[in-house]
Amino acid sequence: MKLAKRMSRLGTETAFEVLAKAKELEAQGKSIIHLEIGEPDFDTPKNIRKAGVEAIEKGWTHYTPAAGIPELRKAIAEYISKTRGIEIDPKEVVAVPGGKSIIFFTILALVDEGDEVIYPNPGYPIYESVINFVGAKAVPIPLKEEKDFRLDISELAGLITDRTKLIIINSPQNPTGGVLTEDDLSQIAELAKKHDIYVLSDEIYSEILYDGEKHHSISKVPGMKERTIILDGFSKTFAMTGWRLGYGVMPVELAEQITKLMINSNSCNAGFTQKAGVEALTGPWDDVRGMVAEFTRRRDVIVEGLNKIPGISCRKPKGAFYVFPNITGTGKDSRFLESYLLEEAGVAVLSGTAFGKYGEGYLRLSYANSLENIKEALSRIDKAIRAL
Ligand code: PLP
Repeated sequence: MKLAKRMSRLGTETAFEVLAKAKELEAQGKSIIHLEIGEPDFDTPKNIRKAGVEAIEKGWTHYTPAAGIPELRKAIAEYISKTRGIEIDPKEVVAVPGGKSIIFFTILALVDEGDEVIYPNPGYPIYESVINFVGAKAVPIPLKEEKDFRLDISELAGLITDRTKLIIINSPQNPTGGVLTEDDLSQIAELAKKHDIYVLSDEIYSEILYDGEKHHSISKVPGMKERTIILDGFSKTFAMTGWRLGYGVMPVELAEQITKLMINSNSCNAGFTQKAGVEALTGPWDDVRGMVAEFTRRRDVIVEGLNKIPGISCRKPKGAFYVFPNITGTGKDSRFLESYLLEEAGVAVLSGTAFGKYGEGYLRLSYANSLENIKEALSRIDKAIRAL
């Protein structure tokens, strides 16, 4: 077929490819432990499921306003106002089918061909993919282990040019579990203001933080609300990945443009999904707290186990539900270990390079799996690495 040229610039998410390979091996009767997938293994909390079912029964099965039903936009505005310490109007909120759409829509709406976008590397692969897709220049900022996977502010300053339109930050971060400090955020904000740059702040893991760590949003820094797009959603916090509901919070002028992109692509989110979203934000949060407590237990077990394996060292993530162990001591590269562990040990993990070139020397393991499976995976990895 004669495809449009831009399609050759669009990337993908390796997680889905590894998942397909792992499923193929399972179909052949091989036992596989899945540590490649970025989704909570918990069920969506019961009150939320019930709200969704009731909404279907009550006829919430038609088109809704493109930016979301007023009740949902209001609930999101109140939640963001409270958790970020800023005043948000429902008009600044656009509900979309998953936080991922906010990456796509924000870049489409703000970035022209030839503009430059700075993004974290290793980082969520969709940033680089969409930046390239629109014909902009993708400028990676390396996240380094010795900085606890936070970005280096002076390095960031050095990457800014007069073509830089947007900086993407992600805290807590996928794949490293790194968290930006308040001081990092205020320094990034200073640069953004000085050079008139927008910031896409991916805060999808804001509720999954450990050891009493508090979430900070760059939007709270004075002068930043008007140049920040907050990306958040329901997938991770409420174990609602399959419902496809996320949102962006941004200046009204941009919200109107992103609503236009919604009209041109999805029309709207399902009404019953949005009603479930209202229940998620306004109902009890006990299940969310329970999930984070369970993630904490798993994190501690996986970090301790990985550090006992020769050639592997692993930092304790501060947020999200991934570990990003350094595997350079094994003498093997990331892609090799990704295949080797899947085929020889029956453990599906992702190569650090699935998150960009600066991910070489690392693997990403998701601990959104049971403690029992995590322990079995650790013992299989240990055996396989010793046999190298
Ligand atoms: N941002 C980051 C950093 C992610 O890891 C993900 C999902 O893995 C998303 C955004 C998108 O989440 P969703 O579209 O399911 O809301």
